Amino acid sequence: MEKDFHFQTKLLHNNHKVDKGTGAVSVPIHHSSTFHQFDFDTFGKYDYARSGNPTREVVEEAIAQLEGGTRGFAFSSGMAAISTAFMLLSKDDHIVLTKDVYGGTFRLVTRVLTRLGIDHTFVDMTNLEEVEANIKENTKLLYMETPSNPTMKVTDIRGVVELAKKYDCYTFLDNTFLTPAFQRPLELGVDVVLHSATKFLGGHSDVVAGLAVVKDEELGNELAFLHNSFGTILGVQDCWLLLRGMKTLSVRMEYSSKGALEIATWLSKHEAVKKVYYPGLEDDPGYTLQKSQASSAGAVLSFELEDREAVKKFVDAVEVPVFAVSLGAVESILSYPATMSHAAMPPEEREARGISDGLLRLSVGLESIEDLIADFEQALRSSK
Ligand SMILES: *Cc1c(COP(=O)(O)O)cnc(C)c1O
Repeated sequence: MEKDFHFQTKLLHNNHKVDKGTGAVSVPIHHSSTFHQFDFDTFGKYDYARSGNPTREVVEEAIAQLEGGTRGFAFSSGMAAISTAFMLLSKDDHIVLTKDVYGGTFRLVTRVLTRLGIDHTFVDMTNLEEVEANIKENTKLLYMETPSNPTMKVTDIRGVVELAKKYDCYTFLDNTFLTPAFQRPLELGVDVVLHSATKFLGGHSDVVAGLAVVKDEELGNELAFLHNSFGTILGVQDCWLLLRGMKTLSVRMEYSSKGALEIATWLSKHEAVKKVYYPGLEDDPGYTLQKSQASSAGAVLSFELEDREAVKKFVDAVEVPVFAVSLGAVESILSYPATMSHAAMPPEEREARGISDGLLRLSVGLESIEDLIADFEQALRSSK
């Protein structure tokens, strides 16, 4: 029986703290694709590495433990995790999902699942009445992403779970932005937690990976079957990189989220900034709800400048963050949702979701916050 350590300690002291055979403190990378069977009649735990590999198993156990689940699965990308989980559905099923869903999930749902006869309705998930009004006879899944990307809207997780129970639907939640360091949806009744581990869990912009976690045993078996059927597994080198990144998750998230609050507060007082989206700000519409279901608002915020021209000048002048797709790394990352994360979304859909041409998203890294603010100050001056 494992002791009930604090989250920070659990990141380091789990079943795989040391390798049982050698005492190795770093998890060995098992490059074997197949495993010798010592007994003709009874096969061992591992047979073929798509179905199970000891290195991958360590990441899978670790994320299950951190999210408070029973089974974890490591995928070749966040989209591999998300698309495989969607295969828990069947033809003629219907999904209700949040309007400002990640661009890749939007593409999958609107252009792939529709071809397979799986239909969907986008709703404002912050409005539970709207969610309920759009649940149909064949609705099988309520899909959440909170805080949402990039306008940081907060969904009432407990409220959506209650609706799912009432109408007998699954709930999935994309927990990429907060990670189990700040938000543990399984503890609030969600069925499947999904991650792009490419972001905060990996944390170093050096690996593309995805994770899924469940608590229910039956659902775990179904997902294991799909994982093996599709073969959307994470390679062992990447499993190791992800494990190394995860060891520092807690300290990185704490530092970067404190910085995010500081920067959001500063931006919200700046005359060149039209609007700041960050549920850690007391006057943000999601503030109270966020506090009730997560221990921080996280390390990502968005802010709106006058227009595309102002954004261009700002990005040209800024020196500290990298200007790139992605988030959740040791280096701060500035993104332009209109042409990056949400490029797959038609312009009118984008505008309707508040993703204007003036909107920038910032993922706060581990630089000095003072340096970041000074850099933004000079860049905002040149954006005028
Ligand atoms: C990046 C991201 C994904 C997709 O993950 P990949 O690892 O890029 O496939 C899904 N959801 C959110 C919220 C993301 O930020």
